[in-house]
Amino acid sequence: MNDVSCVFCKIVSGEIPSAKIYENEIVSAFLDIKPVNPGHALVVPKKHYANLYELPDEILAPFMRAARDIARALKKELGADGVNIEMNNDRPAGQIVSHAHLHVIPRKTDDGLRHWPGKEASEGEMKRIADTLAKSLV
Ligand code: 5GP
Ligand code: ZN
Repeated sequence: MNDVSCVFCKIVSGEIPSAKIYENEIVSAFLDIKPVNPGHALVVPKKHYANLYELPDEILAPFMRAARDIARALKKELGADGVNIEMNNDRPAGQIVSHAHLHVIPRKTDDGLRHWPGKEASEGEMKRIADTLAKSLV
């Protein structure tokens, strides 16, 4: 069931217009209304899921496949020098629209954008975190 108050559900249903670039049975893709660079696209599952944690297995491959195909088109058709695939999950991670989506962002060599900075981490801390996660992921 889709969420009647969700902006991306409204885009999927056609209630809100969008610059659509791709769709199949499972996913839809359209241009971001506030692009980081021209061609910045969003891939969404047609069904409403809030974030990555909620996505069922059968959505994952079509979701990422669409991002890959768009990335290829951004390079071929718009001359992107590189492409960032990004997904924000939860408010503290920058998610504003609570309908799972991948950002597919074309990059130019000198577009002036910067990645987030890395922090120093001790070997002990790395080992402790890795052990905790590895146990949880068995
Ligand atoms: P988030 O921060 O949730 O990962 O990103 C949401 C993205 O959706 C933003 O980049 C924003 O510009 C885009 N967006 C929000 N509302 C609309 C809309 O109505 N149409 C389109 N095409 N993009 C939207
Ligand atoms: Zn939705």
